[in-house]
Amino acid sequence: MSSKEPYDVAIIGGGLAGLCLAIQCAENGYSVILFEKEEYPFHKVCGEYISLESRNFLQGLGMHLDQLNLPIIKTLQLSDTNGKLYKFNLPLGGFGISRYFLDNALYKIAVAKGVEVWTKTKVNEVVFEDDLFAVQTSQQTIVSKIAAGCFGKRSNLDVKWNRPFVRQKNNVLNNYIGIKYHIRHLHNPAEISLHNFYNGYCGISKIEDDKSCLCYLTTAENLRSSNNSIDELQKKVLYKNPRLKEIFEKATFLYEQPLAISQISFNKKSQVEDHVLLLGDAAGMISPLCGNGMSMAMHASKIVFSTIQKYFESKLSRGEMEDQFASEWQREFSKRLWMGRTVQRFFGGNQSTSLFLQTMHSIPFLAKSVIASTHGKPF
Ligand SMILES: Cc1cc2nc3c(=O)[nH]c(=O)nc-3n(C[C@H](O)[C@H](O)[C@H](O)COP(=O)(O)OP(=O)(O)OC[C@H]3O[C@@H](n4cnc5c(N)ncnc54)[C@H](O)[C@@H]3O)c2cc1C
Repeated sequence: MSSKEPYDVAIIGGGLAGLCLAIQCAENGYSVILFEKEEYPFHKVCGEYISLESRNFLQGLGMHLDQLNLPIIKTLQLSDTNGKLYKFNLPLGGFGISRYFLDNALYKIAVAKGVEVWTKTKVNEVVFEDDLFAVQTSQQTIVSKIAAGCFGKRSNLDVKWNRPFVRQKNNVLNNYIGIKYHIRHLHNPAEISLHNFYNGYCGISKIEDDKSCLCYLTTAENLRSSNNSIDELQKKVLYKNPRLKEIFEKATFLYEQPLAISQISFNKKSQVEDHVLLLGDAAGMISPLCGNGMSMAMHASKIVFSTIQKYFESKLSRGEMEDQFASEWQREFSKRLWMGRTVQRFFGGNQSTSLFLQTMHSIPFLAKSVIASTHGKPF
């Protein structure tokens, strides 16, 4: 271990959960170190539609969203696998912004607030001993009083810790892949489209600079049966929805290669592992069709920050802090995650998707209530 004074908080992973937590901790005078394995700015597989529930929170952290002229999204357009369209109003709505821009802006705020950020640094292990954490990278081990795991959907630490969701056999809630592009395409900036195809769905919405984000989720099996070729998958499977065929054929693609991730799981996860507090996708991932994972990650950072604060003020013991965080997390998010898993099961099948969309469309009250129950309130 290094001989330096322990940091108050060590954060593993500099996505939305990690950066938002780091900023709040630094603003309140705690010493914070954050490890991110990539180098900012960088692209991430994500639909880049943020529910408006987190707008005030982001502004409070120092993001001047009003000055960015971002598209405000108010309606959801869905098509079934045959391209039949349905429209729904989004009760709260959202806005579009790329992760390349957003994460980098938060990183700069974190540095300005005094967070020590180690980029291009992967954490290999976290060990809890004598009421302190030893956070190990290939170069060094640092010591902290609190450790927060904000390492996303699936990291080397999930595998190392043999977390139950990593051990689960393939089922209807895991083994998905995500593919993303930035494109230029004529698209109503006030609308997010979600086009279904066999065993998957593809979201398209505007982000900054009149670009659009096109991002889809599908099963690993769909890719395997297309000879592991993304191009073949798109032509063989996605193009069966005429809406998607038209977009792929008409849009200008801004990356040479798409961004891809695999082994996505919506199965349940724990919120604390060996005293490490977990938040964001590391604590549980909501189906992307709910368009709400980013807001959940940010909201969780607010919840965990307030429990950490109580711990440092000696109002809670470590065990009480962990229990309070886990129960507040469950209270805030478990119903949403359940609804996300339920809705996810309906999408992808040719008939089940059509039936689901027809039912939602013919009973607007039901549609409103399903959309509302996958979203939270401003925090
Ligand atoms: C296909 C798809 C589409 C989506 N679309 C949307 C959408 O439109 N709207 C929405 O709100 N949500 C969406 N989501 C969900 C959203 O992307 C996540 O919920 C959100 O990014 C979670 O943030 P996070 O901070 O937990 O994780 P991340 O943003 O993934 O950040 C984790 C960070 O940890 C780093 N890391 C991992 N391991 C280590 C390590 N050992 N050491 C150091 N660093 C490490 C990673 O490099 C990464 O930067 C989508 C997800 C997918 C898969």
